[in-house]
Amino acid sequence: MNEADSENIAATFRRRGYSVTDDIKKADAVVVNTCTVRQRAEDKAISQIGRLRLWKENKPEGKLFVVGCAAQKLGTKYLKSRFPFINEVVGARAIEHFEDALEAQYGPAEAAIEASHRNLFRSPQTAYVTIMRGCSLKCSYCIVPAVRGPASFIPATEILEDARAKLAAGAKELVLLGQTVNSWRRDGATFSELLREVLRLPGLGRLRFMSPHPLYFDEDFTALLAREKKLARHLHLPVQSGSDRILKAMRRGYSRAQYLDLLARLRAAAPDLAVSTDFIVGYPGETEADSRDTLSLVKEGRFSLAYCFKYSPRTDKPGMKASIGEAEMEARLEKLLAAVRENSRVVLNERIGKIEKVLFETETYGRASGNFAVRVKAGGIPGKISAVLVDGAEKNTLNGKLI
Ligand code: SAH
Ligand code: SF4
Repeated sequence: MNEADSENIAATFRRRGYSVTDDIKKADAVVVNTCTVRQRAEDKAISQIGRLRLWKENKPEGKLFVVGCAAQKLGTKYLKSRFPFINEVVGARAIEHFEDALEAQYGPAEAAIEASHRNLFRSPQTAYVTIMRGCSLKCSYCIVPAVRGPASFIPATEILEDARAKLAAGAKELVLLGQTVNSWRRDGATFSELLREVLRLPGLGRLRFMSPHPLYFDEDFTALLAREKKLARHLHLPVQSGSDRILKAMRRGYSRAQYLDLLARLRAAAPDLAVSTDFIVGYPGETEADSRDTLSLVKEGRFSLAYCFKYSPRTDKPGMKASIGEAEMEARLEKLLAAVRENSRVVLNERIGKIEKVLFETETYGRASGNFAVRVKAGGIPGKISAVLVDGAEKNTLNGKLI
């Protein structure tokens, strides 16, 4: 989501004739897009802003914009008093209106320059399309609803326009984005209906979306997944914990069995579906037994990959402090990471001997529909989807030959 916001911000600069540079010395403006989902992310944002003091001293006319979720949480007053060299603060809730901050600094835009779409983060063939903002769920550990606000769904016409423009600019793959992306509903249309519309767009080779929430998958979606091969054979479906007690305390809205049942239904529709997930370790009150339930879910869920995070308190509410010490937190994380590594190895090895549809980014590298990184010796055509026979696997990469 933050990458997508950063791209949109870059586009507002491009329309004024600016270009993006990796060289801070060349930069006339710097935008720091901040995250606050965990305390560490916020701390990193703060130290990044601190380091820009020097840049600003060397270039007093340079403009510093601090945007996003930590900016929303900390507020303009706090940030500007701590870092007086910041020019503009734009919180996550106002980020679609970043143009206003540009106007405040540089004045109204002259005729907009036709800026071609360019990806800053994913491959040149992949583009993000934001379909909703905010989140209306109330997971106990999560700061997102507070900083990004309640869910709001972008109208289908706008989504399709955005998607069309990105495809026209050369994207082959689209990633629809939202915090509970499959809860999208607007003007009587459902998420699956929106998917059908996007899938009809000319030039589209593959469609992904992120992150779906287990509560919002229905039969219409599984039917669509079974039929529509352009829908990626991969879902990132965060589960957070394998313990029913913890899932309940987290207010996730599903049990372990319900989550696994959903996985079974999705895999019945798409047998080669790869599923990745997120886990939080050390949620308040998590016992040894709870953490064993999470470990066993790694195998049972057959996850291709899992991001594992140490619990980070985002509220002062009573009972929301971590109940285990740092050493125990670290030990549980290590165990989980080892289980995830071992399981990923098994899942990857299962692909050996199979044919993967790979969207190539270079002649030798691309991504399978299941989101696995794939390497071949030669012959891939960037921007084309080709069949690869997998003959080996190492770390997070499949090796194979074009067929
Ligand atoms: N909307 C997505 C998650 C967005 S936040 C969903 O519900 O699936 C991305 C990930 O950050 C979450 O899946 C969770 O694993 C992690 N996360 C969120 N809040 C956290 C916290 N307070 N401490 C540790 N990890 C957290
Ligand atoms: Fe946070 Fe995701 Fe839960 Fe929304 S659904 S509150 S973004 S973890």
